[in-house]
Amino acid sequence: MSVTAVVGCGWGDEGKGKIVDALASARGAKLVIRFNGGPNAGHTVVPEVDGGAASAPRWNRVVFRLHQVPSGVFTPGCVCVCGPGTVIDPDGFLAEIAELEAHGVDTERVLLSDRAHVVLPVHRQRDRLLEAAREGLAQGTTLRGVGPAYEDKVARIGLRLGDLLDREYLREYLPFFADEQSRRLAGLGGEPVGLQELLELCDRWADRIGNRIVDSYPIVRDALHEGGPIILEGQLGAGRDIDWGIYPYVTSSGATTGAAATGSGVPATAIREVVGVVKAFATSVGGGPLVTELFGAEAERLRTAGGAETEHEYGATTGRARRCGWFDAVAARQAAAINGCTAMAVTKLDALDGLPEVKIATAYELDGQMLDHVPSNTRRLAHAEPVYETLPGWTAPSREIREWDRLPEAARAYAGRIEALVGVPVVYAGTGPSRPEMAERGAQEERAAR
Ligand code: GDP
Repeated sequence: MSVTAVVGCGWGDEGKGKIVDALASARGAKLVIRFNGGPNAGHTVVPEVDGGAASAPRWNRVVFRLHQVPSGVFTPGCVCVCGPGTVIDPDGFLAEIAELEAHGVDTERVLLSDRAHVVLPVHRQRDRLLEAAREGLAQGTTLRGVGPAYEDKVARIGLRLGDLLDREYLREYLPFFADEQSRRLAGLGGEPVGLQELLELCDRWADRIGNRIVDSYPIVRDALHEGGPIILEGQLGAGRDIDWGIYPYVTSSGATTGAAATGSGVPATAIREVVGVVKAFATSVGGGPLVTELFGAEAERLRTAGGAETEHEYGATTGRARRCGWFDAVAARQAAAINGCTAMAVTKLDALDGLPEVKIATAYELDGQMLDHVPSNTRRLAHAEPVYETLPGWTAPSREIREWDRLPEAARAYAGRIEALVGVPVVYAGTGPSRPEMAERGAQEERAAR
């Protein structure tokens, strides 16, 4: 049985979409399930088949930003499910499907779990009003309503996608729901929710996405029975996980392997492989401490590295400039341990090409003590100082290199040092944004042995 979880071991935006697309297509995945998050995600995928031959599909080499649709959508025959752990904005989802179809992508296999929760306009309103009310303590959410939708889920008042198909229930339940939402909005200075409007919206969504709403359990059960390959796709990273992240600057869902099981319906014992994705340098969007953060020209150098503007460090969902810093091995080690990673993927190694030297934080210094883990108190973490190790940079480009042994020696040494500090083998090195721009360690030997 082949079940792989792909999880972020940073603060999100590590390049999980690219890794999922690459693994799904290389392995012929039968099922890719998004297990957490919603429209706040922005997984950039640049699918590429056969070097761009004339017979290539129209979507070849197009830069896609997938917010809700799983990154297996470019793998022929792969069923893509937004799992029970996700929250879905139906209008955003429909827009994404329309964009994919405009590029000739087959979206028939994209399905939505009836257990996933619905993100409604009222959730976006609450998100905005709550962020405004927090003033200086604003968390820097994407304002997509994701937090409030999860809040309603946990409060057991939310709407699930399956509810959209039960019009009788909606007519019974929505009056209470609209009143409850109006009460919450009033507390934040917002306008009441119109019941009729809400009913019409739900009816419209039922008509437009009803055919994709399914009970995902039999799909997962059968795929497991057939042996997969199944890939579980995470959103955000351990640094923003609801339990393990830099609380309160976290997302409202679990982003680790544990959540991959509950959010997909794949039993935890079936997950044999966990690929932890980290960027070759730290990036973070939103609030909260980033211990290795750089500022000014140094940060800008990392932010704008890479060939095209689409690779630059600006959020795929919000367009916000990402904060950048040196690789934080303390956070990555803890993330890999919590996730039970069996392999690491280090993306954007090419972004460090040409730097005379590169740094890795190997420990934190806090209140005169050396720490080898991330303190749970985020206010204390904000005072932690990184303890750096400096390694030589590389002038020969790693960009586009697809074979491990052809990576510049110093780049391999850098990946090796990350491996030693994190304690998990680095198996994949990203050398560009598109699907084939990745070097897999051991792949040459494997090919030669075949
Ligand atoms: P995700 O949310 O984890 O899927 O990550 P994002 O898509 O938000 O951010 C990753 C960014 O890095 C995107 O712009 C990708 O196109 C880009 N990217 C991913 N891997 C590589 C790589 O190896 N090299 C370069 N240059 N860009 C990469």
